[in-house]
Amino acid sequence: MADEPLDGFFQRLAEAQRRLDASFAHLPASPLPPLDEAATAILNEVAIKLHDNYPYAHPLYAGQMLKPPHPIARASYALAMSVNPNNHALDGGRASSAMEIEAVAALAKMFGWPQHLGHLTSGGTFANLEALWIAGQLAPGKSIAASDQAHYTHSRISAVLGLPFVKIPSDNTGRIDLRALESLLETQTIGTVVVTLGTTAIGSVDPLDEILKLQQRYNFRIHVDAAYGGYFTLAANLTPQIRAAYEAISQADSIVIDPHKHGLQPYGCGCVLFRDSTVGRFYKHDSPYTYFSSKDLHLGEISLECSRAGASAVALWATQQLVPYIPGGAFAQDLESSHEAALELYRRLAASPHFVTPSFLPALDIAFWTAKSSTPELSSALAQRIFDEAARHDLHLALATLPTRFFPPETWPQTEQSASVTCLRSVLMKPEHLAWIDQIWERLSNAITAAERVNTTPVPR
Ligand SMILES: *Cc1c(COP(=O)(O)O)cnc(C)c1O
Repeated sequence: MADEPLDGFFQRLAEAQRRLDASFAHLPASPLPPLDEAATAILNEVAIKLHDNYPYAHPLYAGQMLKPPHPIARASYALAMSVNPNNHALDGGRASSAMEIEAVAALAKMFGWPQHLGHLTSGGTFANLEALWIAGQLAPGKSIAASDQAHYTHSRISAVLGLPFVKIPSDNTGRIDLRALESLLETQTIGTVVVTLGTTAIGSVDPLDEILKLQQRYNFRIHVDAAYGGYFTLAANLTPQIRAAYEAISQADSIVIDPHKHGLQPYGCGCVLFRDSTVGRFYKHDSPYTYFSSKDLHLGEISLECSRAGASAVALWATQQLVPYIPGGAFAQDLESSHEAALELYRRLAASPHFVTPSFLPALDIAFWTAKSSTPELSSALAQRIFDEAARHDLHLALATLPTRFFPPETWPQTEQSASVTCLRSVLMKPEHLAWIDQIWERLSNAITAAERVNTTPVPR
């Protein structure tokens, strides 16, 4: 998988490193620890150990949410490592704090917010924790409500924060059921509704535009969890219904997005944004050992996490310079191509006699399906075998247990509404996936042939 342009680029990283080092060259030399043969041997051992992974960066890895960081992000992160800035206080990283402020503003601008309060976090979990913590401060004792397709982190975070949590049923397309939501709101106990734009399992998009209409009649806060799907606000090829949800995003009270999911960043990069910057007052603290030495904003004053990787901010900032968040730009086109890849896979699956597809199209770039069989149990067993066989053909998919109600009712006529079925799931988040659909399809076809062969082999007694 190694290729020459990447090699060449990483050689230029060494030049950039020398340029950075030169700025400290006036200081007396301070020797590094010895980097002898032992260190080189360990480095090679690390390379061998890391081989025990799926090839996440390759397009034939079409399973979980894994997208390789952009080379500019890798190189900038590595460069920042020699400084190892801490974006807690300005004294720990002046340049990287300024880059974080700019990078976060670019995310807020993408969502239509000229003003905001926000910062990077270690990931979507911590970003959601901060958003729900503020929500709890503003409406003490009131519940957090999220759909049964929302990330499981919301119920756990609510428990951590001591806030009651209520699950909202989803409809048969995995979106918040508006009637169920309205009857919950009538109880006047809901302080915040979590609206997911891009659920983790299937990429469904809650009807934010419709939920905002309910906000005119009931008093509640809206937190948008767009950890996965946030960047799709730039994609021009989504259905009008889904576009309408994204168009409404600027009216949310808080938003979470994970640059380490679709934003081409290494892990350790989430982001929380608040529309009302006065919520910063809840972060006030009086630490004797924090070294806030100037009146300028220290990001540690508006973040629950104390030490944070300045290198994450540097990598994100650099990536945004190369592939800015512009509708119709290269970054937006890559998201559009991921959506098209999921639609193309769906079309092939729907036309195949071997598979059953859900009764709705992929909203974003996640496709799921299962094997055709007479009961959910038999479909589940066959799906598991296809998963194993596909891996043997170097095609890496994911598995997910999902409600049978996502499939047409005639799929398994004797089955109850509440039943579930093991599905194959493919997150087609790499821009190369569209061009690789034929390869993916061929391997999947070979996998089902092999799986069905195993199925019909009589069990020896
Ligand atoms: C991934 C994800 C999270 C959790 O974020 P991490 O970065 O894994 O901590 C929360 N919500 C949604 C919708 C996600 O997709």
